[in-house]
Amino acid sequence: MSYNSKSNTYHPDPKTSPKGRAVFLDRDGVINKVILREGKPYPPMRLEEFSFNNGIKEAVWTIKELGYKVFVISNQPDVARGNLTEENLNLMTKHLRSEIPIDDVYICPHDDYHQCSCRKPKPGMLIDAAVKWGIDLSSSFIIGDTWKDMEAGQSAGCKTILLDAPYNKDVKCDFRVKSLSEAMNIIKTYNLSPILNHL
Ligand SMILES: [Mg+2]
Ligand SMILES: [Zn+2]
Repeated sequence: MSYNSKSNTYHPDPKTSPKGRAVFLDRDGVINKVILREGKPYPPMRLEEFSFNNGIKEAVWTIKELGYKVFVISNQPDVARGNLTEENLNLMTKHLRSEIPIDDVYICPHDDYHQCSCRKPKPGMLIDAAVKWGIDLSSSFIIGDTWKDMEAGQSAGCKTILLDAPYNKDVKCDFRVKSLSEAMNIIKTYNLSPILNHL
């Protein structure tokens, strides 16, 4: 074990510990509700606009009970675009972490022109988390609501679960679910049948 003074948490040394498993959660549309305007999803810009999605708290507790780490993996390009202050973003992150037991939060504040390695559909945030926490990506899941989440998960070698929404009908994924509890059933099934992990 090593001690990370920055986040005040212990995490396994990936060189010596058996690898863990994780469920990566997109933020907008998975953890919290998106704001729909003309059928397109938009993120909250202030804490007052932030409201948790139905069933998210129960889902995260289920994931924890199954022995998975839980990470938030979120693109927030409105920081780069000047529409979202870091202060408001941090307030929402703090609120989120005070209500649900998230192990770590990864946020890409960049826009396309930065050509960073973290902005989904690139898998940089998942890979960073896997290295830091000693995660086996091939036995991990990502739950998201857009093609960028699914592509990031697929590039990282995770199983991809798409939360069905009117704006993502064309998106490819391993599993399309109507609710977070349906997503939990998929993860539970894999958990009970380790052999499925090799399919
Ligand atoms: Mg989303
Ligand atoms: Zn980035």
